Amino acid sequence: PTASHRIGLVGAGIGTSLSPALHTREAHELGLTDYRYDLLDIDDRGIAAESAGDLVRTAFAEGWTGFNVTHPCKQTVIAGLDDLSDNARSLGAVNTVVVRGGKLIGHNTDHSGFLAGLRRGLPDARLEVVQVVGAGGAGSAVAYALAAAGVPELRIADVDPARAADVCTRVSGAFEHTTAVAVPLGDVPAGLASCTGLVNATPIGMVGHPGSPVDAAALHPDLWVADVVYRPLRTELLSAAERAGCAVLDGGQMLVAQAADTFELLTGHAADRTRMRAHLTEL
Ligand code: NAD
Repeated sequence: PTASHRIGLVGAGIGTSLSPALHTREAHELGLTDYRYDLLDIDDRGIAAESAGDLVRTAFAEGWTGFNVTHPCKQTVIAGLDDLSDNARSLGAVNTVVVRGGKLIGHNTDHSGFLAGLRRGLPDARLEVVQVVGAGGAGSAVAYALAAAGVPELRIADVDPARAADVCTRVSGAFEHTTAVAVPLGDVPAGLASCTGLVNATPIGMVGHPGSPVDAAALHPDLWVADVVYRPLRTELLSAAERAGCAVLDGGQMLVAQAADTFELLTGHAADRTRMRAHLTEL
């Protein structure tokens, strides 16, 4: 008999999330007939983000079999979990909760997904000096993933300099071989001359936040450029980067890779990443 999967997405204002469509279509393609992926929106339920841990424990007791977790619950959900994967522990954030032997275990596939997307989309990317702009949820996952991949020098900038400094302290502390330095936003364009890669991890470029986080004049052909923004897939930054001769990676690569990693953790079935990417472009 097919195992039954009842997955919940925990977060706030998640009504327009692409995750339910990505996950349920892949389950359908794989013939998992007893699979459901539903929203557990804390706004709709009148639950504070601080209670996300209680929400997953209660839902688990009611028969839910696993969870995807998004903003603003990735940190707060940890209070309800029994254990964490190494990635989730070092990052201090969880986006996937798996049940193993009756215990709730937190994982982080933003971390694994960024790296998987980078290796798949830009296999020849030089990982020497990488500038990350944006040090929030996505930016810290990207910074940890790049450090875990062996990047020796990371530069991190954010309009809120304290956020950049905090991520740098944590990454430098967790990875001996990586030096992470917080740089003022104004220094990013000149600094790109000595970088091999640039990642946008701010919301700039997404629908409702037009523009580019970095001046196009600072882009050069020896730089690969990745964006975490996936709506639209082609952001102003990526268009400018292509015109400048850069290799580019869109945010859909990270989105699909994290969804596929989560799908595999939750169901035990291998997801077809090429098919999921094709689904994404139809959504
Ligand atoms: P967040 O609010 O946690 O972090 C955003 C950070 O960007 C903040 O620290 C903010 O101060 C900083 N910032 C904003 N404008 C800036 C600017 N002009 N210059 C420098 N820094 C600036 O948000 P998040 O959850 O990290 O999400 C950021 C973006 O990443 C969103 O567009 C989200 O949709 C996307 N995202 C994509 C994936 C994916 O799988 N592709 C995963 C997570 C998030």
